[in-house]
Amino acid sequence: AKSAGRDTSRFFSLETNNRVMARQVMEAQLRQALDHHEFTLHYQPRINAKTRQVQGAEALLRWSNPVLGQVPPGQFIQLAEETGLIKSIGLWVLREACRQWMAFEAEGLFTGLELSVNLSAAQLADADLVDQIGQVLRETHMPANRLELELTESHLMDNPSSAQEKLSALKRLGVNIAIDDFGTGYSSLAYLKRFEIDKLKVDQSFVLGMLDDSADAAIVHAVIALGHTLGLSVVAEGVESGPMAQSLIALGCDELQGYWFSRPLAVPDFVQWIKGQPE
Ligand code: C2E
Ligand code: CA
Ligand code: CA
Ligand code: CA
Repeated sequence: AKSAGRDTSRFFSLETNNRVMARQVMEAQLRQALDHHEFTLHYQPRINAKTRQVQGAEALLRWSNPVLGQVPPGQFIQLAEETGLIKSIGLWVLREACRQWMAFEAEGLFTGLELSVNLSAAQLADADLVDQIGQVLRETHMPANRLELELTESHLMDNPSSAQEKLSALKRLGVNIAIDDFGTGYSSLAYLKRFEIDKLKVDQSFVLGMLDDSADAAIVHAVIALGHTLGLSVVAEGVESGPMAQSLIALGCDELQGYWFSRPLAVPDFVQWIKGQPE
């Protein structure tokens, strides 16, 4: 086993430029990852800016593979999309997160916290999505109004009329919809009144820059104002410092998420974090 490990790493260092090979290896590993139970979820709290209490958490996927090690989602989600594997992986995420959430609640860890789950473009395009989500809600007893699905602007704008239908169907199920990475898409703002959306998540690039860059600060300010004018709630992600949190609170941002409050946490750490919060 020891020499096999060395061969594997030599293989990868020799072939680092060979993107095709690396992709094939990753794809082969990704195809088996669900069956081999290589995925876990981490949870990152989001904080209500007014009460300073935890309002919910976002489930973030983690992949630990014997050949590739820890692979960050930024390195495999796109491949999962391109191969269609994201449909089964995304369904696993949704079911696992809802199951976990109801287990936390049954154990008395919290009551009423919201759960955010990221959806990919391929999932949104899948004709089975709405039925599958309905099924997961029934199966896990997760209350629909406490589940929030995060979509990006480009997911919606790939095929706006189909996306509009999907969102209406999701709203009929009773789930909430948030636009992730808001401000980074190319799209016009017209879709905001067409689509049934509940929340905007200001992209972390603007939040991270807001204290040093007046353009970033102006964008954060404008997104909060726009969201509120449209009756939407606004979340800032990438909140890394106390001064950032303070200025977002002063701007009227509704919720805050970022390393300043907590990194995404594995289940045991998340449980400890929640237990350490004031009632
Ligand atoms: P995202 O949905 O925008 O998630 C936020 C990312 O920012 C997460 O990276 C999180 O760990 C990171 N982050 C949180 N707070 C801070 C902060 O204060 N500063 C900085 N610099 N970063 C922060 P992560 O977990 O690596 O996920 C990357 C992306 O992968 C996600 O971006 C999302 O697009 C995708 N992803 C993750 N899990 C899933 C999933 O279950 N399904 C799908 N479709 N995509 C997922
Ligand atoms: Ca997200
Ligand atoms: Ca985001
Ligand atoms: Ca992102």
